[in-house]
Amino acid sequence: MNRRSTPIAIAFLAGAIVLVSTLHYLTPVDSLVLHQIYQRTYYIPIILAAFWYGWRGGLGIAALAGLSYLPHIMLHWQHQNYEYALNQYAEVALFFAIGSVTGWLGDQRRREHERAERINAELQTAYGDLRQTVGQLLQAERLSSLAEIASGVVHEVRNPLGAIKGAVEILEDEIAEDSPRREFARIAKVEVERIDKLVHEFLRFARPPKLSKTRADVNDLVDSAVQLLDQQAAAANVVIKRDLAADLPAVEIDAEQMMQVLLNLAINAVEAMPEGGTVTFRTNREGEVVAVEIEDTGGGVAPDVIDHIFDPFFTTKDKGSGLGLSIAHKIVAQHDGKLSAENRPTGTRFKVTLDRAAD
Ligand code: ADP
Repeated sequence: MNRRSTPIAIAFLAGAIVLVSTLHYLTPVDSLVLHQIYQRTYYIPIILAAFWYGWRGGLGIAALAGLSYLPHIMLHWQHQNYEYALNQYAEVALFFAIGSVTGWLGDQRRREHERAERINAELQTAYGDLRQTVGQLLQAERLSSLAEIASGVVHEVRNPLGAIKGAVEILEDEIAEDSPRREFARIAKVEVERIDKLVHEFLRFARPPKLSKTRADVNDLVDSAVQLLDQQAAAANVVIKRDLAADLPAVEIDAEQMMQVLLNLAINAVEAMPEGGTVTFRTNREGEVVAVEIEDTGGGVAPDVIDHIFDPFFTTKDKGSGLGLSIAHKIVAQHDGKLSAENRPTGTRFKVTLDRAAD
């Protein structure tokens, strides 16, 4: 029974008792069969009340039925047919028995039902968690074999790349300053540097350095990140704001790697606002967890790709490596933290959560 239907249901039960009692009082005593039918009709509201409201409801309506019916027994039957009156008193006692037993059974059934619903909800949650874990395991397995193969290749690429870079620099030096060929040398150098950066990022992703954790204050880390970003942000017409919680508990982190996380997120934020905008660093304490949010006022992540932005090599940029977020995700996961992204009405909010350090 839901609460909204309760007053209507109670009015219906009370109305049924009043109706049956009225019929009793109006029917002449010699219509014995009719009286017997009416008295059994009391069972219906009693059973319904017990079923809907448990043993209390059953007993309540049984009491109401008894109270309405007793004066009738006393006034009409007690004097005329004493034995029949005794039978009627037993009938009233039966109302109470039916009300309490049916109510008790109803309560049992309700409790079982609630238990089954609770178990069902727990199972649904466990099933969801399991599916997510299996998905992550499969993804991790796929990635680790991919990373194994690719890191071998990348390793081989790095040495010749260094040689090409050196050779291009020598060639550049040999080309006259005013020669149009110098531009080719410059392009070659820029592109080699880009490949080098990509290779470096990939190795960073495939073979992450071991964590070297120390106690740190996340607010200090944010301050350093803002300093490092200052020039790049100003050049892109981006204002950096800080909204830092006072008395933030310390965390145990590899500060260098966590700085990489903040920079990757913030550089993406700057790049998401080609017309300029604001990047806000926010820190908060959420119980035993320290949260850092990096929010921009850019166009947000397209809803159909938001589930893929942490995948390695996923990029929507012409010259993106698609590794910045996967590296950040990996570093945060190594810290047993969480990195998540959500679109806000204006822009995107990335959130890193880390357990506070033990005192
Ligand atoms: P890259 O920057 O090289 O593309 P990332 O892994 O850092 O690689 O980012 C993956 C993709 O996630 C980006 O190409 C972009 O589409 C999306 N993305 C990341 N940060 C933001 C942001 N702040 N706003 C909108 N999109 C973003």
